[in-house]
Amino acid sequence: MAQEAREAGSRRSRATVVIPSDVQRALLQDAWSRSKIEACGLLRGEIDERGSWRLAAVHPLPNIAHSSAYFEFAPEDVLQLELSYPGQIIGVYHSHPWGPRGASRTDRETMRRVNGEEGIPWIWLILCGPFTDEALPLLLEAAAGGDRAAEAECANWLGRRLLAYYHDPGKGLGQIEVVLQAQSEAGGTGGQRSAGVDGGKKGGRRSAGEQGARGSLKRGSIWQIPGRSATLREKSREAGSEANRQH
Ligand SMILES: [Zn+2]
Repeated sequence: MAQEAREAGSRRSRATVVIPSDVQRALLQDAWSRSKIEACGLLRGEIDERGSWRLAAVHPLPNIAHSSAYFEFAPEDVLQLELSYPGQIIGVYHSHPWGPRGASRTDRETMRRVNGEEGIPWIWLILCGPFTDEALPLLLEAAAGGDRAAEAECANWLGRRLLAYYHDPGKGLGQIEVVLQAQSEAGGTGGQRSAGVDGGKKGGRRSAGEQGARGSLKRGSIWQIPGRSATLREKSREAGSEANRQH
């Protein structure tokens, strides 16, 4: 097991996280629209053979703590996405509206536990605020409309504020290089434009996914209280108040 983790680690040594432009905009949009609290959600996509994370969509989730200092998912929200997109949830994002810049102690502890101990290869994105730039909504709108200069400016804006982390089981916590992909570069990866901002209705996959989704529950179980895994499905709301608290 440790050996496997080390091999996976070395394979991942040059891994990056690749974020197409529509996903960049979705991240910025969410951080902006919830600028007074920590915006948070899950990241959907795939992990390629080099261990790089290739994002296809963001799924904003309610921060049920409504806090500017930490975020908390409702476990049933996490579970529902896992069921809808089995094997496609590959990370978590959240914002730090007023800082601190970079991962907090709680963030690091969560990364160590999930990546290191539980072996779940999720990427962690942190968007560092403040998100008070009045020009941003217009910029996002222009970029969504195909304005390449606005798209580049959005990438610029995000590039200065986005950090990515992964706790390698063999090497410990490290920052991961972020690749902000322009729309024109995303063509070869297929359909990313339409997949960017989640509407929760990506058709086809959902019904097929739910059939076999129980097997993936363990991957989503990081939000559970240790020793209470059996109750996650039935009593997720109850567990959520204690288990999902992070900074
Ligand atoms: Zn944090």
